[in-house]
Amino acid sequence: MPKIKMREQPPHERIKNFNEVALGLTEEEAVQEAKTCLQCKKASCVGGCPVEIDIPSFIDYAAKGEFDKALAKIREKNSLPAICGRVCPQEDQCEKVCILAKKQGAVGIGDLERFVADWGLKNRPKTKDHRPKIKRAGPKLEKVAIIGSGPAGLTCAGDLARKGYDVTIFESLHKPGGVLTYGIPEFRLPKDIVDREAGYVKSLGVNIEVNFLVGRTKGIDELKSDGFKAFFIGIGAGLPYFLGVEGENLNGIYSANEFLTRTNLMKSYLFPEYDTPIRIGEHVGVIGAGNVAMDSARCALRLGAKEVHIVYRRTESEMPARIDEIKRAKEEGIGFELLTHPTRFFGDEKGWVREAELLKNQLGEPDASGRRRPVPIKGSERRMKLDTVVCAIGQGPNPLLPSTLPDLKLNEDGDIIVDDNMMTSMEGVFAGGDIVTGAATVIEAMGAGKKAAAAIDRYLRR
Ligand code: FAD
Ligand code: SF4
Repeated sequence: MPKIKMREQPPHERIKNFNEVALGLTEEEAVQEAKTCLQCKKASCVGGCPVEIDIPSFIDYAAKGEFDKALAKIREKNSLPAICGRVCPQEDQCEKVCILAKKQGAVGIGDLERFVADWGLKNRPKTKDHRPKIKRAGPKLEKVAIIGSGPAGLTCAGDLARKGYDVTIFESLHKPGGVLTYGIPEFRLPKDIVDREAGYVKSLGVNIEVNFLVGRTKGIDELKSDGFKAFFIGIGAGLPYFLGVEGENLNGIYSANEFLTRTNLMKSYLFPEYDTPIRIGEHVGVIGAGNVAMDSARCALRLGAKEVHIVYRRTESEMPARIDEIKRAKEEGIGFELLTHPTRFFGDEKGWVREAELLKNQLGEPDASGRRRPVPIKGSERRMKLDTVVCAIGQGPNPLLPSTLPDLKLNEDGDIIVDDNMMTSMEGVFAGGDIVTGAATVIEAMGAGKKAAAAIDRYLRR
């Protein structure tokens, strides 16, 4: 049987609101979907999951309608299942290697994870506590500092708290969650889900200090004096890259980071209820074609733009965004200018962007990323009317904290270098997530947080 299609808000309705697009499975649908799993003895899907959830076991419980047990099984490995069920690229991970993928189509593992996690959030007060028992790390509880509350930090903190450590997360923003809170929009990942899953990590005994910028509010040395014995740096890749073309400083040109933070974290879409408006024009161009670009384009549409175009230098097959999100963006009427890149922007006398000059490309030989390199076609210049531009061409590591730590070794991109145990060049200081790998995925950041928690435990017990 093919995978059950999750219900969604229809495109003409959803472009007028920020409510979640995908509506989840019903209980009957979840049981039906779970029954398609073959319960393979050597389950390839588990190897495709960066945190190695026991997928067949949780699906088996779901097939029997034992959702509390299914949730407990997932939570053995994953503290943020309602988030992962929504944003993980399952099509490239567990579902890609599901034995049924090449036959009738993979089991809807992600949809089932989401269903079970949502079921838990709705019914938790009624169900018994399935949190894994806290094992003490030793006679003394050591203090561990986690810097950054994205998926890497939350996972590392949760795992260490379960082992009995005294864990504090330091987060520079006023809300925990990292990109889950400030980047990914409400219509893909409702913020009450993030709050509740961060709340679950807190319920394991983790203390979260917000508005605390490590490197400014206090440095690592001061935190050492406060008694912290080990550190995990999970500060993500929040520094936006720019195109470096003429006119890029004009008003109305945002980095995706700023645009999405204003929209999601500062809730500009709820203006005037929230006193943080955002200016959006009628003709919006979003440069790039990853998840960040799709999110920016779809936010711009919902914020009232008349037309929104993705401008991407390669073709659709090279687009890094999730296939489902590209499909949804198309359904919503986002335009796609492919094999195209901007070479400069033109403004009016008041310094507001009014037009972009675009150049057509053709694809050449593969570059370092393995994707075919876009080669500009001479003389193909044309102009496009744009009064708002969002640059979503990637992010790099924020240098603020590393710049305060001269002994911290970085690679040429500014990412933190770690050894096989996730330890940096500084004794007792570990790191993981986007700050080590460069911009990647939620589940990879969680996998890194898990690996680092195990390594910190070994380090403190040595
Ligand atoms: P982050 O989530 O970036 O969290 C880092 C945290 O550290 C932030 O809260 C930051 O404020 C804090 N911080 C930084 N410096 C300091 C400091 N000095 N002191 C204290 N705190 C500090 N991945 C997917 O798998 N699926 C998707 O659909 C998806 N969509 C995305 C959409 C957008 C718009 C973006 C930007 C990314 C998306 N990603 C997606 C990627 C994914 O969100 C990231 O790979 C993941 O969040 C990285 O986790 P992290 O914990 O390493 O860092
Ligand atoms: Fe079920 Fe597919 Fe995993 Fe086999 S590989 S156990 S069919 S989800």
